[in-house]
Amino acid sequence: MIENLNFCLQAAASNKPRCSTMSSAAPTNSGDRTTRGRPRPHVVLLPSAGMGHLVPFTRLATALCSGHGCDVSIVTALPTVSSAEARHLAALFAAFPTVGRLALHLSAFDLPEFPGADPFYVRYEAIRRSAAHLLAPLLAGASPSALVADIAVASVVIPVAKELRLPCYVFFTASATMFALLAYLPTYVDANGGGGHAIGDVDVPGVCRVPMSSVPQALHDPDDIFTRQFITNGRSLAGADGLLVNAFDALEPEAVAALRQGTVVAGLPPVFAVGPLSPASFPAKDSGNYFPWLDAQPERSVVYVSFGSRKALPRNQLSELAAGLEASGRRFLWVVKGTAVDRDDAGELSDLVGEGFLQRVHGRGLVTMAWVRQEEILKHPAVGLFVSHCGWNSVTEAAAGGVPVMAWPWFADQRVNAGVVARAGLGAWVEGWSWEGEEGVVRAEDIAEKVTSVMADEAVRDTAASVREAAARAVAVGGTSYRSLAEFVRRCSSGSVRNEA
Ligand code: UDP
Repeated sequence: MIENLNFCLQAAASNKPRCSTMSSAAPTNSGDRTTRGRPRPHVVLLPSAGMGHLVPFTRLATALCSGHGCDVSIVTALPTVSSAEARHLAALFAAFPTVGRLALHLSAFDLPEFPGADPFYVRYEAIRRSAAHLLAPLLAGASPSALVADIAVASVVIPVAKELRLPCYVFFTASATMFALLAYLPTYVDANGGGGHAIGDVDVPGVCRVPMSSVPQALHDPDDIFTRQFITNGRSLAGADGLLVNAFDALEPEAVAALRQGTVVAGLPPVFAVGPLSPASFPAKDSGNYFPWLDAQPERSVVYVSFGSRKALPRNQLSELAAGLEASGRRFLWVVKGTAVDRDDAGELSDLVGEGFLQRVHGRGLVTMAWVRQEEILKHPAVGLFVSHCGWNSVTEAAAGGVPVMAWPWFADQRVNAGVVARAGLGAWVEGWSWEGEEGVVRAEDIAEKVTSVMADEAVRDTAASVREAAARAVAVGGTSYRSLAEFVRRCSSGSVRNEA
């Protein structure tokens, strides 16, 4: 089998790569190619676009090389959409020089057939199209034992890996519940008249009912770029050698079990729940000037507010949120975004939050448009509540920090994730609050009232503390997620391919 793999990789290498491999580097920690007598597997990771995907991939990279004796390389699709991604990659490679870098220079990322589409979804498409012909030669120079590809590119990359006889795993960076929806949706669509029909409530077998209102907005349009990718990727899962998800059994027991046992859909490969992947400590690049302020605040007194890295709330909603935080009387640290892509963020903070707001909350509230070290903030003892859009990384960071979440999902998978938060008791979610594309603005008085009540809710606080303990147990040596990751590495070492062509 190994001979076969080498043969296929050499064959692929003879195809002239159209991408530059100038910046490619094999991992430099490969001097001793064995771990306890076994060959060190070389795992190549292929993230897609956006910090929500890149962050868990870099966490996976550091877990594999620091804790599980792997050599790791990362395929970096260039250019990145956001400056945050470029900075994150630079910090990763500086802090972990042993991690190899394989530059995938995108051949076309201006896709005029999707006018006005989300820039991150468009970039998924560009990576998919480029990977279809550029990935094989890139992998050929790296001699990998296995490839781990982001879900957004799965359907394109699995056949490439199969051609190379290279074991191919898919990493789903969001919740197991959302993963179950993705895996089941092709079955749902086929049973409901095919891809041209609207999606209603979806009963995901063995997991939960996802109401129509929680289905990601884009999926209501069968022609949306995201819908096409989502359903195609869902159909491709059975062809992978295994599926990794940044989830842990204790937080989503039904979803993890139903995925593993074939209840969601029959014929899936082994599922490895490996979360919550632990933060990789990079040298701090930002000033962190909010930490002295946080240090000076009483324990659990601060509301941390962030809607993630890739969406800006509309102006009228921003001003209601500002007024709500002010009216709550609570201390707060608020990360404000003015645009979807940080490179475009040229606006003034005072324009976004309203005249006089910053002066009125001076000393009690800290507001910034800068990138913050969120995972450290969520571990700070002064933080007592996280008003969150429920991007899955944010949820896992809240879980790891034991910080109660006031869920305010805004788009995509975030209502599904908010459902996980509410069911697990990690926080509260007002389901009626609007999200992107819906009429209605959530009013300041409702925000103030909810912040105050969740902050005072001792039951939520206690449950959040037990979620933190469960998360820590899962990733500790011998825990469910630790064992899953170890089993994945064992399979990479043995080089076994599940579905021989
Ligand atoms: N993040 C951060 N600082 C910021 C904004 C975001 O560290 O100022 C991190 C956050 O901790 C998380 C990731 O960026 O790890 C965002 O991913 P998530 O899935 O929460 O949401 P998305 O941004 O994809 O909507």
